[in-house]
Amino acid sequence: MAAACRICGNTEGNQAFFPKEMMFGWREEFEYLECARCGCLQIARIPDDLAKYYPSDGYYSYKAPKRKRDPAWLLKLRHERTRYFLGEFSVVGAALGAISRRPEHFDWLRGRASLDSRILDVGCGAGGLLLKLQREGFRSLLGADPFIQADIDYGNGVKILKRGIEQLDGRYDFIMLHHSFEHVRDPASSLRSLALALAPKGTLLIRVPVADSHARRTYGIQWYQWDAPRHLYLHTRKSMQLLAAGAGMEIAGVVHDSSGQQFSSSELYLRGVPYIEHGKYRPDRGSDARPDAFEQAEWDGFQARAAELNRKGEGDSACFYLRAR
Ligand SMILES: [Zn+2]
Repeated sequence: MAAACRICGNTEGNQAFFPKEMMFGWREEFEYLECARCGCLQIARIPDDLAKYYPSDGYYSYKAPKRKRDPAWLLKLRHERTRYFLGEFSVVGAALGAISRRPEHFDWLRGRASLDSRILDVGCGAGGLLLKLQREGFRSLLGADPFIQADIDYGNGVKILKRGIEQLDGRYDFIMLHHSFEHVRDPASSLRSLALALAPKGTLLIRVPVADSHARRTYGIQWYQWDAPRHLYLHTRKSMQLLAAGAGMEIAGVVHDSSGQQFSSSELYLRGVPYIEHGKYRPDRGSDARPDAFEQAEWDGFQARAAELNRKGEGDSACFYLRAR
């Protein structure tokens, strides 16, 4: 009998695939199972030496933020703008918002958080996003990441704990996981812990690569987001729904947010180029670029196709918004 899907338990018709380590180009093969029922791709056996595939040099480099102290009037204006970006009415904020580029994170927070929301970033590394949110006026910010060397206290209200999902304390209004959920060993158990940490009416945002996507179907094991063996699970809408239900949650919304990289990096994997070399194939690298780098028009085409796929719900990564059922 074939191995059972660790998400839905299905044993019928599951298929094996053997993608290679290509971030560093080590080309070691790993067995993955694709569930015939929920579509989830999952590594057959988690390697004992998984840490080896996360070389720590500079990966989570901790840099103290600039201790630039902004004057009170500037802080006040910035907070007005943040309120406007969050969807709250403010004349001053609207005027400032009209002349500023709205950062991407407001797509996630708008209508779901306020400046006073308790925000938790799980798998946040050194906490770069939390530091941005602190500057914008958010007041309750915490990060957790089991792979940092030690707890970090930035002295400005932002703290990062060296902890995994199962060790979280407290309740939060907005919990976010930006491309960390595909790395967890036991997604069902992790999601139950996240559900417990979520305040009533809180939102859990999980951003992950998705296997029920155009790029996965087009590129197969050369799909760059497969990322063997680091991505232990490549979820689908179905597997996320099953996990959510198992944790007493429901999916309140799905927004696809894939980029042109699903084409550029997957095309480079077809050519056998390791991920760490991909920067040299950008059309804007000038003298640093490889002679066979992408042409600008080709690059622009990748971005346009990604936007089109996102509109159709076919992009290779998505934001899942979960809440208690
Ligand atoms: Zn399954």
